[in-house]
Amino acid sequence: MQDTVLCRICGSDAVTFWRKRTLSRKLVPDDLRITDSRYGVTLELWRCKYCGFIQANGAEIEELFNLYSELDDPTYESGRETRRLQMQWLLKRALRIHSSAETLLDIGAGTGLMVIEAKAKNLRAVGIEPSHSLVTAGRAQNGLSGSELIQGTIPNSALNSHAFDLVCMIDVIEHVADPVTFLKDAAAALKPGGLCVVVTPDVSSAAAKILGERWWHFRLAHVGYFDAHSMDLAAQLAGLHIRQKFRAKWFFPIKYLAERIAVYFPPMSRLNQAVADRQVLDRLYQQTVPLNLHDSLVFFLTKSATLASN
Ligand SMILES: [Zn+2]
Repeated sequence: MQDTVLCRICGSDAVTFWRKRTLSRKLVPDDLRITDSRYGVTLELWRCKYCGFIQANGAEIEELFNLYSELDDPTYESGRETRRLQMQWLLKRALRIHSSAETLLDIGAGTGLMVIEAKAKNLRAVGIEPSHSLVTAGRAQNGLSGSELIQGTIPNSALNSHAFDLVCMIDVIEHVADPVTFLKDAAAALKPGGLCVVVTPDVSSAAAKILGERWWHFRLAHVGYFDAHSMDLAAQLAGLHIRQKFRAKWFFPIKYLAERIAVYFPPMSRLNQAVADRQVLDRLYQQTVPLNLHDSLVFFLTKSATLASN
């Protein structure tokens, strides 16, 4: 029998087996690619009856940082436009709330796209990313310096205890083994009055329920699945509170959407091939459309007054 499983958010032992592991071998860095489209393949998942948090269990959870350090994702840049437009949108909304912000830290920065967008808004920005490969690519392709895109995670000595007006974690918290500690470390890097921006899939969304095991966010890289309730609790435990909560908007090239739909509806791949053969239609496929899939949440978190004064 295995040891008692405790909820990694609330610590409760009312955690029950939820889904069996669908990966038959040991987790390797390539399994964690952002561009992985093996939807529905996960580690063993358990669900907390108390707070609703769903977490992956397995020996690999302790090794995640090392696996991410070795991650190479050569197709990551193909989603650049989608990510860039979402970051512009998030930054605009965050600056509406915190218009005097001058500094930004992006945790899980990838190749540094948010850093570039923040610099374009005249913010002093730093990104932190565990993957050596993405950091090297980001510095080379995006012209970022070693102090603008740092390899590692938080807390990080390279930050010299600097605090930031905006601390972003965009589609990151679902990848970490200990979300509450991660949020505490993010809160420690946040200036008083600063805003922490968290984006994560919503496991209680209609899409998650309708698609069930085949929901696109069920993937090996995701080891923690939140909804509004469990995020609220995790934030509180980290000394943060939710100032604003809303659905994440995505910006997809039509081609990307068509390719994703083909995963669920194979005949679509024939249409995609036909389009690729016709230049005019291909141009349509390159257009980007804003979409709200209603299955991902944005949280604007601020430090709780009681803890901020400590
Ligand atoms: Zn719990």
